[in-house]
Amino acid sequence: MRRGELVPNSTEVKLVCLRQQVGIVQVELRTCQAGSVCPCCGMASGRVHSRYRRQVLDLPWQGLPVRILLRTRKFFCVKERCKRKIFTEQLPGTVDRYARRSSRSSESLRWLALALGGRAGSRLARKLGLLISGATLLRQLRRQSKPPSAAPRVLGIDEWAWKKGHRYGTILCDLERGTVVDLLPTRDTAAVAAWLTKHPTIEVVSRDRASSFADAIRRGAPGAVQVADRWHLLNNLFEVLTRSLDRYRPAMRAVSDRLSSASPAMSPIGKPTLAAERKQQRRESRLQLYQEAKALMDSGVSQSEASRRLGVSPRTLQRWTACGAFPERKRRDFPSSVDGFTAYLTRRVDEGCTNVSQLWREIREQGFEGQLQTVWNWLRLHFGRSQNRRRSTMLKRSHPLSPKQVAWLMLKVDQSRSKYLTVLAESSPELASIANVAKSLFDLLRNRDAGRWTEWIEAARRSPLASFAKRLERDKDALLAALRLPWSNGMVEGQVHRLKLLKRQMYGRAGFHLLRERVLHAA
Ligand SMILES: [Zn+2]
Repeated sequence: MRRGELVPNSTEVKLVCLRQQVGIVQVELRTCQAGSVCPCCGMASGRVHSRYRRQVLDLPWQGLPVRILLRTRKFFCVKERCKRKIFTEQLPGTVDRYARRSSRSSESLRWLALALGGRAGSRLARKLGLLISGATLLRQLRRQSKPPSAAPRVLGIDEWAWKKGHRYGTILCDLERGTVVDLLPTRDTAAVAAWLTKHPTIEVVSRDRASSFADAIRRGAPGAVQVADRWHLLNNLFEVLTRSLDRYRPAMRAVSDRLSSASPAMSPIGKPTLAAERKQQRRESRLQLYQEAKALMDSGVSQSEASRRLGVSPRTLQRWTACGAFPERKRRDFPSSVDGFTAYLTRRVDEGCTNVSQLWREIREQGFEGQLQTVWNWLRLHFGRSQNRRRSTMLKRSHPLSPKQVAWLMLKVDQSRSKYLTVLAESSPELASIANVAKSLFDLLRNRDAGRWTEWIEAARRSPLASFAKRLERDKDALLAALRLPWSNGMVEGQVHRLKLLKRQMYGRAGFHLLRERVLHAA
């Protein structure tokens, strides 16, 4: 679309006049080309056959619909043996053949349909002064459907859900250009293979670890290099590791118990609060300022001069001088529902009880109606470390780490740096072997160290993760390609996310055609 022009295309049409009528703006245009080209034989002709008028809708003007009255012509074809004797003037930049809307109006509607779909698009179009129904919007979109862009060389392939767990489709992306190439309504191996056969330019295909796509690629693009997605590999590793650790819960619990038997309790008593720490810091900086001011004034500097040098207000200095000593801030006490029970709580804490829930239950029996958190806050305020009270000696009940947490620890942390992992490995040789194999595969994938693959597979075959290693061995080529090549399915996952958003925007009502158009072409 040309911007900033009154007429759709000034090389094709000229403005004759502009009229405002009730509820509509009328623009009269005439064509200004010397001749036109025959759509049948492509020969230019200037022999006018006749003149006639066309009416087409244009883009609205301040919300008012605009109608174009176009004075146009018919021409004789000058080629002897052309089967078309007469043809109408071709104005591709203004209006298409048989169209009832100007080209720029159709283009705007196409963008509207791509962005919003049928019904929502028509609702917005009405607000903007473009009168069109949802069905027409979709029909126009279908008619103007553009073929997918250039042939891809590096393809990313993944599935997307029509309905999760029930029906799936396939999304195909050009990883070099970062665009969606096509959308298939199914993830059927035969359909994907057929699509790949039609696109012989493909050299590399990145996919997740699902075997159906691997088969389809082998059948449809046997020459292409398959790349297994690294994120999916790591995710598989994590899942397998979590599942195998599930069998060792007793051992993991024993290690947690051993390590936690010396840790302090979960209790507010004895712990510094953030507020208390900040308060302490503020007091220290105030004290420093006070001492500096005092030293200055003792050496004979005037109050106003000291105020200027230190950036303290004269009023504050006056107050400090009058006070004679460093003025400590008083703590403000707010009324609390714990107030009636403070004597009892203080006595119980002095007796050595630091269990907040226990204290809460005790005072509830005496009529306290507040929450556990209120008691917790009160105890923190009065027995936190900033008040220099005793430290807790209560023991914490150990919470064993879950298999997921241990798996995470095994992959992310070096064994020598984690006491938990060291003790766990000492407790069971099988767990030690699992941790070793998993960590070395994780490092191998992260560092793309293909050279250590053979060594790893040998070690893994003798470990409890042997069946996982066997599955990886079957997909070895794609896995090694993932270490060698830069491609991954990250971009495809992003496009699947976009597809999901589009799908939900249409409340699951739109058909495959509209979804495909919007995924492929919507900006
Ligand atoms: Zn012709």
